Amino acid sequence: LLIISNSFMFKLNMNRFILALLCFFTWSVQSTQAQEVVVYSARIEQLIKPMFDAFTKETGIKVKYTTDNEGALLAKLEAEGKNTPADMLVTSDAGNLWAAAQAELLKPIKSSVLAHNIPAHLRDPQNQWFGLSIRARTLVYNTKKVKPEELSSYENLADPKWKNRLCLRSSKKVYNQSLVAMMIAEHGEARTEEIVKGWVANLATDPLSDDTKALEYVAAGKCDVTLVNTYYFGRLMKKDPNLPLAIFWPNQDKNGVHVNVSGAGITRYSRNEQAAVKLLEFLSSEKAQNLFADVNMEYPVNPAIDADPFVESWGEFKQNPMNLVKAGELQTTAVKLMDRVGYR
Ligand code: FE
Repeated sequence: LLIISNSFMFKLNMNRFILALLCFFTWSVQSTQAQEVVVYSARIEQLIKPMFDAFTKETGIKVKYTTDNEGALLAKLEAEGKNTPADMLVTSDAGNLWAAAQAELLKPIKSSVLAHNIPAHLRDPQNQWFGLSIRARTLVYNTKKVKPEELSSYENLADPKWKNRLCLRSSKKVYNQSLVAMMIAEHGEARTEEIVKGWVANLATDPLSDDTKALEYVAAGKCDVTLVNTYYFGRLMKKDPNLPLAIFWPNQDKNGVHVNVSGAGITRYSRNEQAAVKLLEFLSSEKAQNLFADVNMEYPVNPAIDADPFVESWGEFKQNPMNLVKAGELQTTAVKLMDRVGYR
């Protein structure tokens, strides 16, 4: 009986051992599989690859990415639903990030690292998206035609003194939609409508297809002042430092410059959430913030990090501290308003 019971115990232990071995094996396979994050990115490859490489070097976690425009990526995420391979969405403008959250494509992430690294107004109050770099939408003027003292605020560009002197990018792009949405949050709809109507009345040309074109028009003297994201100014001035263009930081004695972000969120159906959060935290960290911001001449969101010296040379400015979620919440209202006043 003793022998039988001994051999029974041995078998039992052996079974346990095999079970434990199997468990360990499955766990290690799973954790190897988890060592990869899939990113859908509306930021082009050259703007994201350097940080992804740095992340892989530090953690051993691989990053696979697909780049496309934000509309296509959102449609893809929506169509794939629960079967999406994507763990993270990277895109520009709070308006786009908000739209992804609104379409239930992102999941809320509680992370003390992200809360610490990213100022509250540059991330979703519901924690579904997080700003990773700042672009300011500011005034740029022709230095031969305008004295900086003549400029003051976004609102002031509606003054008749700017008649036939203003160039604007088309209202179809999210950038101006976000700016107008933030103005509605600040001033209410009626006052904002008056301001935007004033802009339209002051236009020197039809609205232009992009920020670079708007800058080129100002440089060529076809208009005197425009509204653009800072990195477009940076790109153009790097190419031709002698252009008669300068940045003006508006609303400094008021609410501050309208800033927006490029950012990211974890997809609702991410299968590698832990690794994806690690990547997101890394992107907000000191190690990656310069990589993320400098390649596109943007500002780091992490206040502990300085911008690239060329970007710093444009001077310091006060930024509007209102939460960017408003750019999304009031986007439709802004689009309708711009349409009503004939801003094409
Ligand atoms: Fe852009």
